[in-house]
Amino acid sequence: MKKPSLAEACQCADLTCDGAMGTQLIERGMQIGECGMLWNAERPEDIKSVHQAYRSAGCRLITTNSFGGSRSMLERHGLGDKVAEWNRRAAELAADVAGPDGWVIGDVGPFGDFLEPMGDTTAEELEGIFREQISALVEGGADAILVETMSDPGELCAGIRAARAVTDLPVIATYTFQKSAGEFRTMMGTKVAEAVKAAYDAGASIVGANCGTDLSLADYIELAKEIVAAAGGRPTILQPNAGAPQQVDGDIHYNATPEEMAGLARTLRGLGIAIVGGCCGTSPAHLAAMAQA
Ligand SMILES: [Zn+2]
Repeated sequence: MKKPSLAEACQCADLTCDGAMGTQLIERGMQIGECGMLWNAERPEDIKSVHQAYRSAGCRLITTNSFGGSRSMLERHGLGDKVAEWNRRAAELAADVAGPDGWVIGDVGPFGDFLEPMGDTTAEELEGIFREQISALVEGGADAILVETMSDPGELCAGIRAARAVTDLPVIATYTFQKSAGEFRTMMGTKVAEAVKAAYDAGASIVGANCGTDLSLADYIELAKEIVAAAGGRPTILQPNAGAPQQVDGDIHYNATPEEMAGLARTLRGLGIAIVGGCCGTSPAHLAAMAQA
């Protein structure tokens, strides 16, 4: 039997995406500031063990270790020539673990700078940067592309257009919202309804939010309502952090328990969020409780 497309599956199944990768790699010895992409080449068994922990927790969407895998991000480490090889490898590692009833989500994070006029990069140049990364993720076996943690609708839509240009796979698009004066907006000031509409208009199949600046669990519930309203029946996604970050002795901690995240997951599903996952501070234990819920 052919595996259903992700968009089809969204209509009929409760889907759980996975949780944070970075914190899991730090637990396995990665240094802050180290290039996480390097681990696809040099520590593939560690990457697969993170994927496996989330897969065993009940997550059917396995996100590749390629958040910082664009040429512009790799060039910061002097590794710009590794884009094709390491993104392909990232998808292959996730595919090894996802299995016949899981999906490989090819992850694309921010390119690390601003578009014109705040920065020097044009939308065309940015689309080229994203096309290169996404092509390699597709080659490695991605089942969908995730353009995530975006605060500029212009950047997010460049990622969606880039994916559309190189593949027919579904594109998932998520923004990072913050709350100021009681309203959710991207860092660029765009409100939820406008941001979500722009992403669907650019060709995304599934749109929502991940991460979030200082959002509480209650905030994510309010944000989910706005996203579902803006989506107008189209599939949505929310990958919250494990609560708002707390500063302790200069370190950042996320304190929401697996039980609290499970309660949040149940509420988000009830509000109509199609795919629930986790972002900063979430672990396989959180995702197991959320998938169960
Ligand atoms: Zn996050």
